[in-house]
Amino acid sequence: MADLPDHLILTADYEVFGDGSGDVSACVVEPTEAMLSVAARHGAPVTLFVESLEFDAMRRAATMRSGLADGIAAVEKQIRQALRDGNDTQLHLHPQWMGAQPVGDRAWGLDFRRWRIGDLNSDEVRKTIKRGLSALEELQGAATESPRVAFRAGAWCIQPSAHVMTALGDSGLAIDSSVAPGLFHSARGDWYDFRAAPADHACWRQNDDVCQPAASGIWEVPIATAKISWLRHIRAKATARLFDRGGGAAAGCSGGHAGPNTGREKLKGHLARIISAGRAMLDFSTLDGPTLIAVAEGWRNGRRADGVPLPIVAIAHSKNFTRRSAKSLETFLEWAEGQPGLRFSTFPRWLEEAGGPGGAD
Ligand SMILES: [Zn+2]
Repeated sequence: MADLPDHLILTADYEVFGDGSGDVSACVVEPTEAMLSVAARHGAPVTLFVESLEFDAMRRAATMRSGLADGIAAVEKQIRQALRDGNDTQLHLHPQWMGAQPVGDRAWGLDFRRWRIGDLNSDEVRKTIKRGLSALEELQGAATESPRVAFRAGAWCIQPSAHVMTALGDSGLAIDSSVAPGLFHSARGDWYDFRAAPADHACWRQNDDVCQPAASGIWEVPIATAKISWLRHIRAKATARLFDRGGGAAAGCSGGHAGPNTGREKLKGHLARIISAGRAMLDFSTLDGPTLIAVAEGWRNGRRADGVPLPIVAIAHSKNFTRRSAKSLETFLEWAEGQPGLRFSTFPRWLEEAGGPGGAD
Protein backbone atom coordinates (compact mmCIF):
# COMPACT_ATOMS: atom_id res chain seq x y z
CA MET A 1 0.00 0.00 0.00
CA ALA A 2 2.80 2.35 -0.93
CA ASP A 3 0.37 4.80 -2.54
CA LEU A 4 -1.30 6.05 0.62
CA PRO A 5 -0.48 9.73 1.09
CA ASP A 6 1.04 10.85 4.38
CA HIS A 7 -1.32 12.84 6.61
CA LEU A 8 -0.03 16.06 8.18
CA ILE A 9 -2.23 16.83 11.20
CA LEU A 10 -1.68 20.28 12.76
CA THR A 11 -2.74 20.28 16.42
CA ALA A 12 -2.83 23.06 19.01
CA ASP A 13 -3.46 22.64 22.72
CA TYR A 14 -6.16 25.21 23.44
CA GLU A 15 -5.84 26.35 27.05
CA VAL A 16 -4.51 28.84 29.60
CA PHE A 17 -1.55 27.92 31.86
CA GLY A 18 -1.57 24.77 33.99
CA ASP A 19 -1.82 26.74 37.23
CA GLY A 20 -4.91 28.58 35.98
CA SER A 21 -3.13 31.84 35.17
CA GLY A 22 -3.27 33.58 31.80
CA ASP A 23 -5.88 35.74 30.15
CA VAL A 24 -8.34 33.83 27.93
CA SER A 25 -8.31 36.50 25.27
CA ALA A 26 -4.52 37.05 25.07
CA CYS A 27 -3.42 33.45 25.71
CA VAL A 28 -6.13 31.52 23.86
CA VAL A 29 -8.49 33.39 21.55
CA GLU A 30 -6.18 35.96 19.91
CA PRO A 31 -3.18 33.70 19.19
CA THR A 32 -5.51 30.95 17.94
CA GLU A 33 -7.10 33.44 15.56
CA ALA A 34 -3.67 34.25 14.15
CA MET A 35 -2.81 30.55 13.84
CA LEU A 36 -6.09 29.67 12.11
CA SER A 37 -5.70 32.46 9.62
CA VAL A 38 -2.18 31.33 8.56
CA ALA A 39 -3.38 27.72 8.24
CA ALA A 40 -6.51 28.72 6.31
CA ARG A 41 -4.41 30.56 3.72
CA HIS A 42 -2.80 27.21 2.94
CA GLY A 43 -5.99 25.18 3.14
CA ALA A 44 -4.76 23.32 6.23
CA PRO A 45 -7.25 22.43 8.96
CA VAL A 46 -6.11 22.87 12.58
CA THR A 47 -7.16 20.43 15.29
CA LEU A 48 -7.79 22.30 18.53
CA PHE A 49 -7.10 20.05 21.51
CA VAL A 50 -9.56 21.85 23.77
CA GLU A 51 -8.92 21.61 27.52
CA SER A 52 -12.64 21.73 28.14
CA LEU A 53 -12.60 21.32 31.93
CA GLU A 54 -11.15 24.80 32.46
CA PHE A 55 -13.75 26.46 30.23
CA ASP A 56 -16.42 24.49 32.05
CA ALA A 57 -15.11 25.81 35.39
CA MET A 58 -15.05 29.35 33.96
CA ARG A 59 -18.61 29.01 32.71
CA ARG A 60 -19.85 27.84 36.08
CA ALA A 61 -18.07 30.72 37.81
CA ALA A 62 -19.09 33.32 35.22
CA THR A 63 -21.46 35.16 37.54
CA MET A 64 -18.85 35.31 40.31
CA ARG A 65 -16.10 37.10 38.41
CA SER A 66 -16.27 39.82 35.81
CA GLY A 67 -14.79 39.05 32.42
CA LEU A 68 -15.37 35.30 32.59
CA ALA A 69 -18.69 35.39 30.74
CA ASP A 70 -17.10 37.40 27.91
CA GLY A 71 -14.13 35.06 27.81
CA ILE A 72 -16.34 31.97 27.51
CA ALA A 73 -18.50 33.64 24.86
CA ALA A 74 -15.37 34.40 22.80
CA VAL A 75 -14.10 30.82 23.19
CA GLU A 76 -17.46 29.37 22.10
CA LYS A 77 -17.67 31.71 19.15
CA GLN A 78 -14.15 30.85 18.04
CA ILE A 79 -14.59 27.09 18.37
CA ARG A 80 -17.89 27.12 16.49
CA GLN A 81 -16.54 29.27 13.68
CA ALA A 82 -13.37 27.17 13.46
CA LEU A 83 -15.49 24.04 13.03
CA ARG A 84 -17.66 25.67 10.39
CA ASP A 85 -14.45 26.59 8.54
CA GLY A 86 -13.38 22.96 8.36
CA ASN A 87 -11.11 22.77 11.40
CA ASP A 88 -11.49 20.13 14.08
CA THR A 89 -11.69 19.83 17.87
CA GLN A 90 -10.58 16.94 20.04
CA LEU A 91 -10.31 16.33 23.77
CA HIS A 92 -7.41 17.53 25.94
CA LEU A 93 -7.58 17.19 29.73
CA HIS A 94 -5.76 18.65 32.70
CA PRO A 95 -7.58 16.91 35.56
CA GLN A 96 -6.43 19.51 38.11
CA TRP A 97 -9.38 21.58 36.79
CA MET A 98 -12.01 19.07 38.00
CA GLY A 99 -14.16 20.98 40.51
CA ALA A 100 -11.99 24.12 40.24
CA GLN A 101 -13.24 27.22 42.05
CA PRO A 102 -12.20 30.85 41.52
CA VAL A 103 -9.96 32.32 44.23
CA GLY A 104 -9.95 36.12 44.52
CA ASP A 105 -10.02 38.21 41.35
CA ARG A 106 -7.74 36.20 39.12
CA ALA A 107 -6.58 32.89 40.59
CA TRP A 108 -8.09 29.40 40.56
CA GLY A 109 -8.11 26.76 43.26
CA LEU A 110 -6.75 23.79 41.34
CA ASP A 111 -5.95 20.37 42.72
CA PHE A 112 -2.31 19.75 41.79
CA ARG A 113 -2.57 16.20 43.16
CA ARG A 114 -4.63 15.52 40.06
CA TRP A 115 -2.02 16.94 37.64
CA ARG A 116 -1.30 13.59 35.97
CA ILE A 117 -4.26 11.69 34.51
CA GLY A 118 -2.12 8.52 34.69
CA ASP A 119 -2.07 8.86 38.50
CA LEU A 120 -5.87 8.89 38.89
CA ASN A 121 -7.72 5.67 39.58
CA SER A 122 -9.94 4.08 36.92
CA ASP A 123 -13.08 5.59 38.30
CA GLU A 124 -11.65 9.11 38.40
CA VAL A 125 -10.23 8.75 34.89
CA ARG A 126 -13.63 7.67 33.59
CA LYS A 127 -15.43 10.57 35.31
CA THR A 128 -12.86 13.11 34.09
CA ILE A 129 -13.14 11.98 30.47
CA LYS A 130 -16.94 11.92 30.63
CA ARG A 131 -17.05 15.43 32.11
CA GLY A 132 -14.49 16.66 29.56
CA LEU A 133 -16.44 15.27 26.61
CA SER A 134 -19.73 16.78 27.74
CA ALA A 135 -18.06 20.15 28.40
CA LEU A 136 -16.58 20.03 24.89
CA GLU A 137 -19.98 19.27 23.37
CA GLU A 138 -21.40 22.25 25.22
CA LEU A 139 -18.67 24.57 23.94
CA GLN A 140 -19.13 23.60 20.33
CA GLY A 141 -22.90 23.42 20.34
CA ALA A 142 -24.42 21.89 17.22
CA ALA A 143 -21.65 23.31 15.03
CA THR A 144 -20.14 20.08 13.82
CA GLU A 145 -20.76 16.59 12.63
CA SER A 146 -17.08 15.76 12.90
CA PRO A 147 -16.71 12.98 15.48
CA ARG A 148 -14.66 13.22 18.66
CA VAL A 149 -12.12 10.44 18.26
CA ALA A 150 -8.84 11.62 19.77
CA PHE A 151 -7.36 12.45 23.14
CA ARG A 152 -4.20 14.14 24.44
CA ALA A 153 -3.23 14.02 28.11
CA GLY A 154 -2.34 17.30 29.84
CA ALA A 155 1.43 17.76 30.09
CA TRP A 156 1.80 14.41 28.21
CA CYS A 157 1.25 12.66 31.57
CA ILE A 158 -0.61 9.57 30.32
CA GLN A 159 1.50 6.95 32.08
CA PRO A 160 0.90 4.45 33.61
CA SER A 161 -1.54 4.14 30.77
CA ALA A 162 -3.44 0.82 30.92
CA HIS A 163 -6.49 2.12 32.83
CA VAL A 164 -6.52 5.36 30.80
CA MET A 165 -6.63 3.33 27.56
CA THR A 166 -9.53 1.25 28.88
CA ALA A 167 -11.44 4.41 29.81
CA LEU A 168 -10.74 6.05 26.43
CA GLY A 169 -12.04 2.97 24.63
CA ASP A 170 -15.12 2.82 26.84
CA SER A 171 -15.79 6.50 26.06
CA GLY A 172 -15.78 5.81 22.33
CA LEU A 173 -12.39 7.41 21.66
CA ALA A 174 -10.18 5.54 19.19
CA ILE A 175 -6.93 7.53 19.17
CA ASP A 176 -4.45 8.79 21.72
CA SER A 177 -1.95 11.47 20.67
CA SER A 178 0.01 12.04 23.89
CA VAL A 179 3.24 10.22 23.10
CA ALA A 180 6.33 12.03 21.79
CA PRO A 181 8.63 9.13 20.89
CA GLY A 182 12.10 9.31 22.42
CA LEU A 183 11.36 12.16 24.82
CA PHE A 184 11.21 12.01 28.60
CA HIS A 185 10.71 14.31 31.54
CA SER A 186 11.84 13.21 34.97
CA ALA A 187 10.37 15.62 37.55
CA ARG A 188 8.23 13.52 39.88
CA GLY A 189 5.07 15.64 39.66
CA ASP A 190 4.77 15.69 35.88
CA TRP A 191 6.92 12.85 34.60
CA TYR A 192 6.54 11.10 31.28
CA ASP A 193 8.90 8.67 29.57
CA PHE A 194 8.53 7.80 25.90
CA ARG A 195 12.05 6.44 25.38
CA ALA A 196 10.66 2.90 25.00
CA ALA A 197 8.21 3.91 22.25
CA PRO A 198 8.80 2.23 18.86
CA ALA A 199 11.70 3.90 17.04
CA ASP A 200 10.56 3.08 13.50
CA HIS A 201 6.74 3.18 13.57
CA ALA A 202 4.69 6.30 12.88
CA CYS A 203 1.64 4.86 14.70
CA TRP A 204 0.61 1.67 16.46
CA ARG A 205 -2.17 0.09 18.45
CA GLN A 206 -1.86 -0.45 22.18
CA ASN A 207 -4.09 -1.64 24.95
CA ASP A 208 -1.87 -1.49 28.00
CA ASP A 209 1.48 0.31 27.92
CA VAL A 210 1.21 3.27 25.56
CA CYS A 211 4.74 2.63 24.27
CA GLN A 212 4.12 -1.06 23.58
CA PRO A 213 2.49 -1.97 20.24
CA ALA A 214 -0.30 -4.54 20.47
CA ALA A 215 -2.45 -6.45 17.98
CA SER A 216 -5.57 -4.47 18.87
CA GLY A 217 -6.69 -1.55 20.98
CA ILE A 218 -6.54 2.25 20.91
CA TRP A 219 -4.42 3.77 18.13
CA GLU A 220 -1.41 5.73 19.25
CA VAL A 221 -0.94 8.49 16.67
CA PRO A 222 2.02 10.19 18.34
CA ILE A 223 3.40 13.68 18.10
CA ALA A 224 6.14 13.62 15.46
CA THR A 225 9.68 13.87 16.83
CA ALA A 226 13.09 13.58 15.22
CA LYS A 227 16.73 13.93 16.01
CA ILE A 228 18.19 17.25 15.00
CA SER A 229 21.58 18.67 15.84
CA TRP A 230 21.86 19.46 19.51
CA LEU A 231 23.12 22.94 18.76
CA ARG A 232 20.28 23.67 16.36
CA HIS A 233 17.74 22.56 18.94
CA ILE A 234 19.18 24.67 21.77
CA ARG A 235 19.48 27.65 19.42
CA ALA A 236 15.90 27.32 18.19
CA LYS A 237 14.55 27.15 21.74
CA ALA A 238 16.71 29.99 23.01
CA THR A 239 15.77 32.18 20.06
CA ALA A 240 12.08 31.56 20.70
CA ARG A 241 12.52 32.67 24.31
CA LEU A 242 14.92 35.57 23.85
CA PHE A 243 13.75 37.35 20.77
CA ASP A 244 10.03 37.34 21.29
CA ARG A 245 9.06 40.25 23.42
CA GLY A 246 6.96 38.06 25.70
CA GLY A 247 9.73 35.49 26.30
CA GLY A 248 8.07 32.96 24.03
CA ALA A 249 4.48 33.72 25.06
CA ALA A 250 1.83 35.09 22.71
CA ALA A 251 1.51 38.90 22.58
CA GLY A 252 0.00 40.21 25.82
CA CYS A 253 -0.10 36.72 27.34
CA SER A 254 1.65 36.03 30.62
CA GLY A 255 1.18 33.32 33.18
CA GLY A 256 2.81 31.34 35.93
CA HIS A 257 4.38 27.94 35.96
CA ALA A 258 3.29 26.76 39.39
CA GLY A 259 2.55 23.07 39.45
CA PRO A 260 3.02 19.88 41.39
CA ASN A 261 6.82 20.08 41.65
CA THR A 262 9.21 21.30 44.33
CA GLY A 263 12.20 23.42 43.21
CA ARG A 264 14.47 20.38 43.23
CA GLU A 265 12.08 18.36 41.06
CA LYS A 266 11.81 21.28 38.65
CA LEU A 267 15.58 21.34 38.32
CA LYS A 268 15.54 17.61 37.53
CA GLY A 269 12.97 18.36 34.84
CA HIS A 270 15.19 21.03 33.29
CA LEU A 271 18.12 18.61 33.24
CA ALA A 272 16.00 15.99 31.46
CA ARG A 273 15.11 18.58 28.86
CA ILE A 274 18.76 19.37 28.25
CA ILE A 275 19.53 15.66 27.89
CA SER A 276 16.57 15.33 25.52
CA ALA A 277 17.86 18.25 23.44
CA GLY A 278 18.74 16.95 20.04
CA ARG A 279 15.40 15.21 19.76
CA ALA A 280 12.61 17.68 19.10
CA MET A 281 8.85 17.59 18.86
CA LEU A 282 7.37 19.00 15.67
CA ASP A 283 6.29 22.10 17.60
CA PHE A 284 5.20 25.03 15.44
CA SER A 285 4.87 27.43 18.34
CA THR A 286 8.55 27.17 19.30
CA LEU A 287 10.66 25.92 16.36
CA ASP A 288 11.69 28.02 13.36
CA GLY A 289 10.55 27.08 9.85
CA PRO A 290 13.71 25.26 8.66
CA THR A 291 13.87 23.24 11.90
CA LEU A 292 10.20 22.27 11.51
CA ILE A 293 10.95 21.03 8.01
CA ALA A 294 14.00 19.08 9.26
CA VAL A 295 11.93 17.38 11.99
CA ALA A 296 9.09 16.51 9.60
CA GLU A 297 11.56 15.08 7.07
CA GLY A 298 13.33 13.12 9.79
CA TRP A 299 10.00 11.63 10.87
CA ARG A 300 8.86 10.77 7.35
CA ASN A 301 12.18 9.21 6.41
CA GLY A 302 12.67 7.28 9.63
CA ARG A 303 9.19 5.86 10.22
CA ARG A 304 6.75 3.52 8.57
CA ALA A 305 3.03 2.84 8.89
CA ASP A 306 1.96 -0.58 7.67
CA GLY A 307 -1.22 -0.49 5.61
CA VAL A 308 -2.41 2.83 7.04
CA PRO A 309 -1.51 6.43 6.09
CA LEU A 310 1.67 7.65 7.77
CA PRO A 311 0.59 10.35 10.25
CA ILE A 312 2.74 13.42 10.92
CA VAL A 313 1.29 15.13 13.97
CA ALA A 314 2.55 18.67 14.64
CA ILE A 315 1.87 20.35 17.99
CA ALA A 316 1.55 23.95 19.19
CA HIS A 317 0.16 25.77 22.19
CA SER A 318 -2.08 28.77 21.72
CA LYS A 319 -0.32 30.55 24.60
CA ASN A 320 3.09 30.22 22.89
CA PHE A 321 1.96 31.15 19.41
CA THR A 322 3.81 34.38 18.64
CA ARG A 323 4.30 36.44 15.49
CA ARG A 324 7.49 34.53 15.00
CA SER A 325 5.54 31.24 15.24
CA ALA A 326 3.17 32.54 12.54
CA LYS A 327 6.14 33.07 10.21
CA SER A 328 7.54 29.62 10.99
CA LEU A 329 4.16 28.03 10.33
CA GLU A 330 3.95 29.91 7.04
CA THR A 331 7.35 28.55 5.95
CA PHE A 332 6.45 25.05 7.08
CA LEU A 333 3.10 24.97 5.27
CA GLU A 334 4.67 26.31 2.08
CA TRP A 335 7.10 23.39 2.24
CA ALA A 336 4.26 20.93 2.97
CA GLU A 337 2.22 22.11 -0.02
CA GLY A 338 5.15 21.31 -2.30
CA GLN A 339 5.59 17.76 -1.02
CA PRO A 340 4.25 15.01 -3.25
CA GLY A 341 2.39 12.34 -1.29
CA LEU A 342 1.59 14.64 1.62
CA ARG A 343 -1.83 16.01 2.46
CA PHE A 344 -3.33 18.09 5.26
CA SER A 345 -5.61 16.04 7.47
CA THR A 346 -7.45 15.54 10.75
CA PHE A 347 -7.76 12.56 13.10
CA PRO A 348 -11.24 11.53 11.84
CA ARG A 349 -9.98 11.58 8.24
CA TRP A 350 -6.86 9.63 9.13
CA LEU A 351 -8.95 7.09 11.05
CA GLU A 352 -11.34 6.65 8.18
CA GLU A 353 -8.49 5.91 5.78
CA ALA A 354 -6.92 3.63 8.37
CA GLY A 355 -10.10 1.56 8.18
CA GLY A 356 -11.95 2.93 11.23
CA PRO A 357 -11.48 2.11 14.92
CA GLY A 358 -11.38 -1.61 14.22
CA GLY A 359 -9.45 -1.26 10.95
CA ALA A 360 -6.55 -3.24 9.63
CA ASP A 361 -3.00 -3.01 10.77
ZN1 LIG B 1 -2.37 21.20 28.01
